[in-house]
Amino acid sequence: MYDYLIIGHGLAGAVLSQRLLERGKKIMVLDQPQDNHSSAVAAGIFNPITGRKMFKTWRADEFFPELLQFYPIFEQTLGAKFFHPMGVYRPYFAIEDQNDWEAKKADTKFDSYIAHASTTPIAAHQLHDPYGGLFLKQAGYVNIVKLLTANKKRLTDKGSYQEAMFNEKEVVRDSDHFVYGVLKFKKLIFCNGVKAQQSDWFDWLPFHPVKGEMIDIALEKRPDTIYNRGVFILPFENESLRVGSTYHHQYDNMEPTEAGQNELKQKLSGLLDETYQVTGSRAGIRPATKDRRPFIGKHPDNEHIYVFNGFGSKGVSLIPYCSKLFTAHLLDGEPLDAELDISRYYSHYSAKPKD
Ligand SMILES: Cc1cc2nc3c(=O)[nH]c(=O)nc-3n(C[C@H](O)[C@H](O)[C@H](O)COP(=O)(O)OP(=O)(O)OC[C@H]3O[C@@H](n4cnc5c(N)ncnc54)[C@H](O)[C@@H]3O)c2cc1C
Repeated sequence: MYDYLIIGHGLAGAVLSQRLLERGKKIMVLDQPQDNHSSAVAAGIFNPITGRKMFKTWRADEFFPELLQFYPIFEQTLGAKFFHPMGVYRPYFAIEDQNDWEAKKADTKFDSYIAHASTTPIAAHQLHDPYGGLFLKQAGYVNIVKLLTANKKRLTDKGSYQEAMFNEKEVVRDSDHFVYGVLKFKKLIFCNGVKAQQSDWFDWLPFHPVKGEMIDIALEKRPDTIYNRGVFILPFENESLRVGSTYHHQYDNMEPTEAGQNELKQKLSGLLDETYQVTGSRAGIRPATKDRRPFIGKHPDNEHIYVFNGFGSKGVSLIPYCSKLFTAHLLDGEPLDAELDISRYYSHYSAKPKD
């Protein structure tokens, strides 16, 4: 008998599996990998200061210390290298940004995220950065595909992973547990990304999926830091540089499009002052939510069915902290943080037509 059946082995399912195994739980993960699932195409960047106006990202002071601690330990557990701390150079758009920053810099809340600021160009050999910019720390990227490959191997070796499409209609309740084919388990956790919208259990949650596209490029001189202004340029392992991303709520399919690539090239021309070659493209759908907050917690009518989802465009920075809270909730009865708890949408469930 398994304690938990986890549906989905994207970043959410993988990290949660680690948290539950750490606590001695018996788990089974079912996943039907699709080339285009969000985790498989993500750049994997974590970056504490975002947006044109350079805002500290939501709850960075809680999420960033946790991710910086979590991923290196996960690397040791899995015997794989996928965590890459790396600075971000964020050139100013205009002289006003420089002035804004000069006014903000006395504010100590940015201290732990800014390595230094420059008022003169520092990457003029390949960027348009006439006003200088900010160097961010506590940033970098996770090679999510490597993490998933290593975790899948570990789970498979333990007999805790099956590549299979889960069909919730085939779950049967039997006194104090569930039965699914030959599997018996006590609790079910959905980490199924955008597919949650097709689940009878969680289709009432207000997801707001966002398609994202990226291109791969080759440059003569490879940067050793992430560049970010309007678009990012990420020196990804020893491969091409990744450039992204687009954000579109309207989409017909999960494939890269010419329009998406043109949008990225257009944005890139504002940042990069060097010729480049496009060597590839990729696209995926982010499991984003209307209120931009994750969806975590218990089904309103079934205390054994849970969701751990809705990490949108920031899975890498949100999932380590959220999985820690969720595990403490599941195993120690700790209350869930109200901003994360799906109980904020129980009224949507009540309003859902029942058959
Ligand atoms: C272009 C792009 C760039 C991105 N860049 C970044 C970035 O730089 N930094 C960052 O933090 N985030 C980024 N993201 C977002 C990031 O990918 C997500 O936050 C995160 O990976 C979501 O993980 P997940 O496990 O919740 O969902 P998913 O990765 O979608 O995983 C869900 C899994 O469940 C499986 N599944 C679904 N239904 C079933 C079923 N019935 N049976 C079996 N398996 C099932 C799916 O096949 C999949 O394997 C990006 C996303 C995109 C598209």
